[in-house]
Amino acid sequence: MALVFDAVESAVRSYCRSWPVVFDQARGSWIVDENGNRYLDFFAGAGSLNYGHNNPLFKEELLDYVSADRVVHSLDMLTTAKRRLLEALTRYVLEPRGFDYRVQFTGPTGAATVESALELARKITGRHLVLGFENSFHGMSLGAIMVSDNGISRAHSAPFARQVPLVHGRLDGLAEVFAASRPAAVIVETVQGEGGVVVGEAEWLRGLSALCAEHGVLLIVDDVQVGCGRTGPFFSFESVGGVVPDIVCLSKSIGGYGLPLALTLIRSDLDVWSPGEHSGTFRGNNLAFVAAAKALETYWADDVLEKDTLTKGELVRERLADLACDRNLGVRGTGLINGLVFPTGEQARAVCGAAFERGLLVETSGRNGEVVKLMPPLTTTVDELTQGLDLLSASCGAV
Ligand code: PLP
Repeated sequence: MALVFDAVESAVRSYCRSWPVVFDQARGSWIVDENGNRYLDFFAGAGSLNYGHNNPLFKEELLDYVSADRVVHSLDMLTTAKRRLLEALTRYVLEPRGFDYRVQFTGPTGAATVESALELARKITGRHLVLGFENSFHGMSLGAIMVSDNGISRAHSAPFARQVPLVHGRLDGLAEVFAASRPAAVIVETVQGEGGVVVGEAEWLRGLSALCAEHGVLLIVDDVQVGCGRTGPFFSFESVGGVVPDIVCLSKSIGGYGLPLALTLIRSDLDVWSPGEHSGTFRGNNLAFVAAAKALETYWADDVLEKDTLTKGELVRERLADLACDRNLGVRGTGLINGLVFPTGEQARAVCGAAFERGLLVETSGRNGEVVKLMPPLTTTVDELTQGLDLLSASCGAV
């Protein structure tokens, strides 16, 4: 059966190479292959399943919506589903935080919201340069590649003169770079997910934000991977205090059910788009709107999920610290994005392989793939977390 994948699917396929089984069913933190083998999913669809696989609350809403022949595709026409999402976003996310953002629906991927942010920053400022940080990842479309810094993005951007100098994760010297190159914006991940769970310190992010304001450079926060509660609060930058980005990119878990959806949040005075200027066919994914609205109504009407995520994150880091200490490894992370840092990528890859054999899905990240990243759904129970960490520990032992 696996033959059809080998024979027909492009060589570009990737995650299926790490987990060479055919998956069929999923629920919560578990995914099951066609032979009935169960795996604890601590990869969570690369961060798009913060509320777990097939969350039953959202599933019911989706089934009702489809059964009643309500509009599934709508371009960007007005629909009841979109209204519900915008109302939920306003009520549970923007208003309580005092954020005055306009919501742009872009194409449904992380790269698409990043592209819109880059284009908008250029339009607002009339300048072209957008600075990205070393070790960053913002997606695989050309503009996103240009502000990213990982092996693949570097290889892909090689034929083009890189118009974007990547800046170090240090603030000293950045004022000079700003003054010399007069960028339109900088784009930053508060936690570099693909880069190996590198957590930007609060002081650093505050400094970056202040420097941007001082030099008239727009601050774009790419919260595609670590937004929607991954670090605890809804937005990853909330815990920094005093940082309100000009533009925020959201995707992955905003769709609630793993359904494709992306939003660009734009400070309302900076929403200078003309109608239709940034367009696309798939901006009206009403199924994703339904699940996204239900997710906000369910999990963001109070701070239960946020507090749980912080508590569970501490538990994960305590266990990782024990594991690391026994074996001379490093630990990084915040909330429920955490990483175990190995001396080499080979070791990290071997541990991921051993974990898969034991029924745990985890992937590597980092410049050399040296970090085993743990990103379970936020709804994972403490028992499941413990079970996953036991499997990880056994995998480290085996390797
Ligand atoms: N930005 C960040 C921070 C990401 O982690 C990713 C994907 O991992 C993207 C953008 C790109 O998202 P997508 O793969 O949906 O285009």
